Amino acid sequence: MKLLVTGGAGFIGSCYVRALLDGRYPGYEDASVTVLDKLTYAGERTNLPDRHERLTFVEGDICDQHLLHELLPGHDAVLHFAAESHVDRSIADPSVFVRTNVVGTQNLLEACLRTGVERVVHISTDEVYGSISSGSWTEDWPLAPNSPYAASKAGSDLMARSYARTHGLDVSITRCSNNYGPYQHVEKLIPLFTTRLLNGETVPLYGDGSHVREWLHVTDHCEAVHLVLSKGRGGEIYNIGGGGERTNRQITELLLELTGATAEMVRHVTDRKGHDLRYSLDDSKIRDELGYAPAVDFEQGLGETVAWYRAHPDRWDQATADRGAAA
Ligand code: NAD
Repeated sequence: MKLLVTGGAGFIGSCYVRALLDGRYPGYEDASVTVLDKLTYAGERTNLPDRHERLTFVEGDICDQHLLHELLPGHDAVLHFAAESHVDRSIADPSVFVRTNVVGTQNLLEACLRTGVERVVHISTDEVYGSISSGSWTEDWPLAPNSPYAASKAGSDLMARSYARTHGLDVSITRCSNNYGPYQHVEKLIPLFTTRLLNGETVPLYGDGSHVREWLHVTDHCEAVHLVLSKGRGGEIYNIGGGGERTNRQITELLLELTGATAEMVRHVTDRKGHDLRYSLDDSKIRDELGYAPAVDFEQGLGETVAWYRAHPDRWDQATADRGAAA
């Protein structure tokens, strides 16, 4: 079994690759993996082992057709994690989101088709559904993305769907809720707040902090992606949820407690433009069909995540200098 993982040097892709190389996915202990990653500001080569007999690392762009045609032959499956992923950046400069997320995904799907890759999993997000005040989204809910990031991911989902419908490409789409865990770039809420509080800096809370997200540990997300790869059906969408629903204010309070900081460290800042109020997924399809069940308790997982950032100041010292966009 030979897998190609795009975006495998990012937060979630690298978690998947580390688990695969550690033999944590039964039946895939001998699988070899090619990571294709452009190493943008969000990608870190050090998120992956320096050397491993089953790992090949290629620095490159999913928009590069020539490279894809060289690389893909011989791979049994592609897991497509690569994306521009930060909503605030998409509001400031959406063009790179369209390029990587929409054009890059189409490019990859076309190359998979032409080079005979048999299976593709396209990793997407609950943000494509928009915002929901009550209840939860099922997979057939209409797409109503509100940010340029979400719109570009919705575009990439529709591209994946079209390759399944038009060409019969065996591609499944996953839509997951917010992830947390180690190795996440410090621009995102949990690592941003954690590292600032550990540094004795204030944290910028958007609006009144009432925005609700469902937080899933990154290892649970990766387990679910692997289930979809090995047992999921082509042309189908699988929601991946099951994390705890919490407001940003509740997350902030937990982080204050875990870092030993006080409430004065919270600064209220003008809300993000078009900020979605609530996300909530109905994930009964992946539970019933594929036997998915998240394993990590939120409070324990969050405590371990804070401990990881505390133990790895070298990982975020440099990046903290460059995080004005999110703050
Ligand atoms: P990330 O920003 O941490 O990592 C993205 C990776 O893609 C980086 O390593 C980057 O270098 C690489 N990349 C970017 N553009 C590329 C290009 N043109 N060619 C090749 N590589 C490129 O993102 P993440 O949080 O790990 O998210 C991974 C996927 O999961 C994304 O598709 C995202 O939409 C989706 N997702 C994320 C979350 C979340 O909470 N982080 C939740 C649901 C879904």
